[in-house]
Amino acid sequence: MSTLRRGLSSSSVAVGAWRTKAVARIISVPCTRTAIHMPRQAVPFGASLLLAPPRRRVPGGLMGRQSFHVLAAAAPTEAPAAPSTPPLPDSIKNKAHGFTLQCTQFVKEYGSYVLLYKHDKTGAELISVPNSDENKTFGVVFRTPVDDSTGIPHILEHSVLCGSRKYPIKKLISELTKSSLQTYLNATTFADRTCYPVASTNTQDFYKLVDVYLDAVFYPSCVSDRRIFEQEGWHFELNSKKEPLTYKGVVFNEMKGIYSSLDKPHYRIVLQALFPDNAYRHDSGGDPEVIPDLTFEQFQQFHAKYYHPSNARFWFYGDDDPVKRLELLDSYLKEFERRDVNSSVETQKLKRTPRSVTEYYAAGDGEEGEQKAYVSVSWVLSDNPLDVETELALGFLNYLMLGTPAAPLRKALNDSQLGAAVIGGGVDTQLKQPYFTLGLKGVDPADSDKVEELITSKLKELATSGFSASAIEAAINTIEFSLRENINSNPRGLSLMLRAVGAWIYDRDPFTQIQWEDALSSFKSKLASGHQDVFGQLIRSLLLDNQHRVTVRLLPDPELAATTEAKEKARLEAARGAMTDDQLDALVKNTSALKELQETPDPPQALACIPALQLSDIPPTITKVPTSSKALADGATLLAHDLFTNDVLYLEAAFDMRSVPARLLPLVPLFCLSLTQMGTSSESIVELTERIGRKTGGISIYPFTSAVRGKEQPVAYIMVRGKAMGGKSADMLDLMHDILLTARLDDKQRFTQMVAEIKVLIERGIIMDGHSFAAGRLAAQCDMAAALNETMGGLSFLKSIPSLAKKVETDDGWQEVKSDLEAIRSALLQRNGAIVNMTADAATLSVVEGQVSNFLAALPAASAPTAKAPQSWSNALLLPRTNEAICVPTQVNYVAKAANLFKDAGYELNGSAYVVEKYLNAWLWDRVRVVGGAYGGSCSFDPLSGMFTYMSYRDPNLLDTLDTYDGSADYLRSLNLSKDELTKAIIGTMGNIDAYQLPDAKGYSALVRHLLGVTDEERQIQRDQILGTSNKDFKAFADAIECVRGAAGRVVAVTSLDKAKSVLNEKPNFWEIKSVL
Ligand SMILES: [Zn+2]
Repeated sequence: MSTLRRGLSSSSVAVGAWRTKAVARIISVPCTRTAIHMPRQAVPFGASLLLAPPRRRVPGGLMGRQSFHVLAAAAPTEAPAAPSTPPLPDSIKNKAHGFTLQCTQFVKEYGSYVLLYKHDKTGAELISVPNSDENKTFGVVFRTPVDDSTGIPHILEHSVLCGSRKYPIKKLISELTKSSLQTYLNATTFADRTCYPVASTNTQDFYKLVDVYLDAVFYPSCVSDRRIFEQEGWHFELNSKKEPLTYKGVVFNEMKGIYSSLDKPHYRIVLQALFPDNAYRHDSGGDPEVIPDLTFEQFQQFHAKYYHPSNARFWFYGDDDPVKRLELLDSYLKEFERRDVNSSVETQKLKRTPRSVTEYYAAGDGEEGEQKAYVSVSWVLSDNPLDVETELALGFLNYLMLGTPAAPLRKALNDSQLGAAVIGGGVDTQLKQPYFTLGLKGVDPADSDKVEELITSKLKELATSGFSASAIEAAINTIEFSLRENINSNPRGLSLMLRAVGAWIYDRDPFTQIQWEDALSSFKSKLASGHQDVFGQLIRSLLLDNQHRVTVRLLPDPELAATTEAKEKARLEAARGAMTDDQLDALVKNTSALKELQETPDPPQALACIPALQLSDIPPTITKVPTSSKALADGATLLAHDLFTNDVLYLEAAFDMRSVPARLLPLVPLFCLSLTQMGTSSESIVELTERIGRKTGGISIYPFTSAVRGKEQPVAYIMVRGKAMGGKSADMLDLMHDILLTARLDDKQRFTQMVAEIKVLIERGIIMDGHSFAAGRLAAQCDMAAALNETMGGLSFLKSIPSLAKKVETDDGWQEVKSDLEAIRSALLQRNGAIVNMTADAATLSVVEGQVSNFLAALPAASAPTAKAPQSWSNALLLPRTNEAICVPTQVNYVAKAANLFKDAGYELNGSAYVVEKYLNAWLWDRVRVVGGAYGGSCSFDPLSGMFTYMSYRDPNLLDTLDTYDGSADYLRSLNLSKDELTKAIIGTMGNIDAYQLPDAKGYSALVRHLLGVTDEERQIQRDQILGTSNKDFKAFADAIECVRGAAGRVVAVTSLDKAKSVLNEKPNFWEIKSVL
């Protein structure tokens, strides 16, 4: 579930300007299930304790939309660690409401007491964190190990939020999203646990959400109502006896989409091979070939067994009353009796001999069909829990070996030319036992032994040679910075919870994961004392001498997709053959009954069970970010935001891209990457990377583009973004200076690797985020900012990669590329018109101001001979307005349809559009997901460009989905909302507009508004319009979106070639077919 919320929360943090992209991203972060379905970055020592430095930007167009929503918000802890332990607040009770306090610790890392309670009657455990953070967080986690791949926990996770005893609302989740001020609302299935977190800054709203979640997990309607199981899990669909039988179901379809992705099969096989004897060999998300084995009875039993307080761990965090928490929980828990629930995962015993596995994956018949093997080497590191210091050491080791492009093991793989991109992030500690996995994809199958040899020989070398002092210093600074800064786009309470749960769930001490300071300083002094062979020992004992090693080779099989489909078809035919005529009639009836039920809205009486907030609970005025603006010499501008950042300085320098000639645009993303990945005139890539690691919390460089409302021309900048402790601001500016002015742009080998990596990234984006990709193509037909993105990272860019790669191979070609890269630099780098944005406390800001002036003064002026005058982008960059099928090997579709409301319908922006759009999204969600069986469906209105876009995500349908879209205007016209319904819709919208932001995100949002010319006055007008939304506005917006159904509407879908052709049979000349992979 909850793609909906996830998309919103991840994007609104970084934007906030006008919530522009929040909606565009509604379904952009697929589900919540990344924890089990995607190869993860290694984040050892607790779920997210050691984050790698900010990821380098991928090309803007890759995301299909403007770039500025993508960077994860970085979050310094607001409450600095207190110097000494304060007294325990009086409000803390040792015994209350059936709970007894077990343990209390002051966690200085977060300046909070952390209390562990036990519920006397059921044995349920609770961690309660009382502090001053207004973004209150609640969570409940159940251990849910599996013994097959039917996906029970995942289907249950979806189904639980489809109504409960006290809240009998089928669309409970969309109702909550629609009507609450939540800052986070989600559920996640992991390999061995299921987690339900919510957050809100409004206390009344928070308690309401907690109550709904508790009622839903303990008393969900789905365990008595088979239809919910069928809808969310799987069912046979038969519309009439003349049609073929098919499988439908939200999770069934979601998993089909995930299994179509290129990396998923590899990751699955690695886990199967590493853990042949315990639950991790199965897929808790569900294998589409196995999901239809699941019965409703098994599903019911699973809930009865695991969703019990004795198998639950609860979490509360924030500034609400700590005693009220106990009371709320006890009101649910007291109805249960204590019980023994066996839910622990068996330990995988380490094997004594290495193994190897060869499997196949479904490949398209692309140009490089035979070049695409996946090869990896993996180990389970231990069959005992690691002690805290070993875990910390392992985190450092992993960072040293793989954490940056210059890290020796990653570099060796990149430089080997054996494959297109590194897979597996090394150490992973999110399961009960830590494991390590690493390899390459895009490998010639004949070279697969070489990949394994390279990894082991490099490990041997590192075990002997160790790491340089400067590399270790950089690792320490980077890791410490990210620990202190607590980077995460999640609410802080949630990050903390996920860390604690990482140990707590395995009956280990939850406190160790959140108290890292002492372990870190003892580890640092151990390193300083010269005991550096700590790393060599680890490499030998955990990897080289460990025989529980698995080599996985995954080879391409162009036939496999067809075979899988044929198998499914045969299975369905057999099932149908076994049914009597009466059974078939019953199935047709059931199919239409299920559809009817899904299409019937929840009655108003049922909806009234969720207590609603009032409009008076919403602040009438916008929140402003403190901003001072100063004109500097040569037309440069300095923006400063005085905010508490726990002594971190966040700084952005923006350079106008209009001076870059259009023909060079495709090279811009590669130029941005090259700046930090080839070294400088005086430093190697290793030295430069280490200096960045020693002096800063990370520097990233990426193109930023956006439409500007009311203007034909977009804004387009190269953004240089960095963060450092206040005392290192001068070092960071020196670094930026050196990178911009003296970065080498002549490393042919590295450039070739980057081209290959970008290609892999974009291809992956098309398959995983097809909806954004399709929306980006559509926008590029009318909106110049989108067209720039398309040129820099979309399909046009992808198509140009092979010729670029060829060009680089020849000496003349490489000379040309090099001089193009230098041409971009000289066009771009001038202080005139540059904008520098900084966010920190006043004392830091005043110091940095002078440093910024020096930084700018050292850049060339516009009068320099190399400077180019800014130009306008030509309309020739826009794509032709046409329908397109983008064909890739996939089992599902991503269907988008769009028009431009400003240009095609003469619509004038009114704040009410946000409310209507959000309301329409809930309807589309029902039609496309609940009825249609897609994983998600949404619409997005961009108030800057005027693009209005429908999108579906992992959709089994195509033309039917377009029909649904076309019914939107009539649906909006048919509405006549009661006052209560309108209020709910407005409040839900305000929840997005006022999305919680950490200080750096506030500063960045202010910069974005500055670039787009969005004034506070305008924002206030919009806010007033939102708060005043009426039924009339719904009708007006219906008229505006009529143009999407009409002649102006265009369709782009990411789909399979067969499907695209079958559409042409039904509708000749409907679209142009473009085969991509
Ligand atoms: Zn899901």
